Amino acid sequence: MSKPSLREQLEGADIAPLLMVYVQLSGDRAELARYRSFIQGPWGWMENVPEALKTRLRDRAAALLDDLSAGRLQAAPAPGPDLLSEMVSTCVGQAVPGDYLPLIAHEMGLGGTPPIEVDWRVRPATQTLKEFHVVVIGAGESGLATAIKLARLGIGYTILEKNKAVGGTWFENRYPGCGVDTPNHFYQYSFEPNHQWSRYFSPRDELWRYLEGVADRYQLRPNIRFNTEVTEASWDDASARWRVLARAADGSTLTLQANALVCAVGQLNRPRLPNIAGLERFAGPAMHTARWDDTVSLEGRRVAMIGTGASGMQVGPSIVDRVARLSIFQRSPHWAVHNPLYHAKVEPGKKWALANLPHYANWYRFQLFWASGDGLYRSLQVDPSWPTPDRSLNAENHAMRERLIEHIRAEVGNDPTLLAKAVPDYPPYGKRMLRDNGWFRMLRRDTVDLITEPIDRIEPDAVVTNNGQRHPADVLVLATGFQADRLTWPMRIEGRAGRTLRDCWGDDDPRAYLGITVPGFPNFFLMYGPNTNLAHGGSAIFHSECQVRFTMLALRELIETGRRSLDVKPQVHDAFNERVDALHARMVWAHRGVGSWYKNRRGRVFATSPWRLLDYWNFTRVIDPDDYVFN
Ligand code: NAP
Repeated sequence: MSKPSLREQLEGADIAPLLMVYVQLSGDRAELARYRSFIQGPWGWMENVPEALKTRLRDRAAALLDDLSAGRLQAAPAPGPDLLSEMVSTCVGQAVPGDYLPLIAHEMGLGGTPPIEVDWRVRPATQTLKEFHVVVIGAGESGLATAIKLARLGIGYTILEKNKAVGGTWFENRYPGCGVDTPNHFYQYSFEPNHQWSRYFSPRDELWRYLEGVADRYQLRPNIRFNTEVTEASWDDASARWRVLARAADGSTLTLQANALVCAVGQLNRPRLPNIAGLERFAGPAMHTARWDDTVSLEGRRVAMIGTGASGMQVGPSIVDRVARLSIFQRSPHWAVHNPLYHAKVEPGKKWALANLPHYANWYRFQLFWASGDGLYRSLQVDPSWPTPDRSLNAENHAMRERLIEHIRAEVGNDPTLLAKAVPDYPPYGKRMLRDNGWFRMLRRDTVDLITEPIDRIEPDAVVTNNGQRHPADVLVLATGFQADRLTWPMRIEGRAGRTLRDCWGDDDPRAYLGITVPGFPNFFLMYGPNTNLAHGGSAIFHSECQVRFTMLALRELIETGRRSLDVKPQVHDAFNERVDALHARMVWAHRGVGSWYKNRRGRVFATSPWRLLDYWNFTRVIDPDDYVFN
């Protein structure tokens, strides 16, 4: 078979990013208007471009690329702000406000703008760098990103990782159906694009392999101590160092000294087991989703699953075909949105375009950034005059509610009891918005029971509900989430004057400036810290890169100015957290009718970011030395 021609290859590309490639390379601005009205949103399936126009674009793009590669033409200069603005809005079918342009240009590499990297302003002496050492706790995605950027600056580091492999959550979670529900071409490092993702939302194994590959390419492994769990870290003012204690798999302990400590353990690392009477007496296998035991056969067995969050949503439909009965215990329903690409494979033509067409991958990433970004932000704000505040927050949020109900109704069929159980009574986005993984359709099956009666107790062979009904079970699946409120637990992190993080935060009230630094804990940086969870969109990796960038800026400031420690000022920290609380007070996650892992017992939202992605990116691309006390 002969190799397809360039023109043939272009058949596989989505039209909107291909149009941007064409306009960027040719400078032919007039073409944008021709296509604008047919691009109605940031996803490929929102393109409605007539065939004749598609052919026109592919013909022109092929001719242009031929001319460029033959040297008959020169690529147009990088688009200026006006053209870029018109391009970004056309590309996503929505007006993109001007204040996003710097972020878009830098993060997506658009318009020839290089991504923001932290480099030395005045390179420190080799000896200074040699003497500075950072300990990073955790080799998950944010720990690896930290290490990569430290190495780039020539700063020495050691990662202590409790597991035998890198990957953090993507190593530990291996339950059936486990995978990412953020679009993958955005849920990846901006500096390590993968054009070969097999699916738009990749399964766990592929994500884990990606992180393994990154660790190898950047040669991080020699600096990682695997099977080594940090138990304690304490700051010593006299030496301006952290003393980090860790336990190896063989029980031996080790102590490391560090000038700075980066805690990259995430919020969702320690499983939360439900406090249900009799749990320990269950006779069959009982496993938390994050501690899945592959040796347990589910074939023909009666499985009881407690919990219907993001993990349960993926497990249920993935095991239903092989179990005899699936009894699902739902304390409260979740909203779930349908995306036609959720199970789709990335077509070869798309992979080719991503890997070979200049700028295409950047434009495609920008579409995903926008699709899962701040577009939703407005709909999550309380309208004080809204007449049904229990059910929705504002007109936009209400319209979303109606669309979601329509989807559930279509999926569960003509069963009013099931519909009533499946539709949440709180506003959309109150808990994490899930992606429908075939969940609602699964609920219709004869072998599935959706049980909403609260659980009274667990017996050796059954789950018993408050109404006395026994639900026999051979295997128990606990899809009950994580102890996000006890961030950094069970480690003991002790800052100045013997005060620990637990002393500051209590059991469930973590706070930090930008989610990164805490007063009294000098040279200590949190990744995915308090109020940095993204619940309206975005990618956790995008946010990690923001936190890593800020951490590098702080270390640069410290090292270049020859000081030994930096400690965020309490008033800066407190003022920031007041703003966080004030924003949350009028956002969906603090809604009275919602219980979620985002909130603590007093209803304070401690996990989730109330900021637009744009705000957080702006906060973390600079550091104001006046916010810190340097010594
Ligand atoms: P989760 O969202 O906290 O869900 C836990 C579920 O267990 C909820 O349905 C909860 O009910 C229920 N539950 C907890 N304790 C219970 C009890 N004692 N009795 C009855 N039900 C109980 O946990 P998760 O599903 O593991 O997800 C956690 C987070 O991890 C997600 O929000 C997401 O950020 C991340 N995650 C992402 C993916 C992905 O990208 N695909 C997959 C999995 C997880 P209530 O709702 O009533 O509290």
